[in-house]
Amino acid sequence: MKSKHSRLYTDIARQRIIRIYKLAVERARQGDVEYARRLGLYAWNLYKSTRVRIPRYIKRGICRRCGTPLIPGLTARVRLHSQGGMSYVTVTCLYCGWMRRYRYH
Ligand SMILES: [Zn+2]
Repeated sequence: MKSKHSRLYTDIARQRIIRIYKLAVERARQGDVEYARRLGLYAWNLYKSTRVRIPRYIKRGICRRCGTPLIPGLTARVRLHSQGGMSYVTVTCLYCGWMRRYRYH
């Protein structure tokens, strides 16, 4: 068993994931979704292999199936709806159809 990652290591890994994610979003906005998806996958794999804490907007901002950065109106469809007195957000990846529902606060 390897020892726990050092603080410095996790900080660096987190910064890298955030940077790659931002780059992916930028690329997607520029219309280069193919490249954005590769960056998204890379960021997600980095997250999975390091298991560092990353901001929720990134966790929810990458399609778990194809890696596309989920941008409302561009690469993702976002719908608000309520059920049983609770509000939900449904995010659908427009590229592979992956869907995720979240509680909305
Ligand atoms: Zn997808």
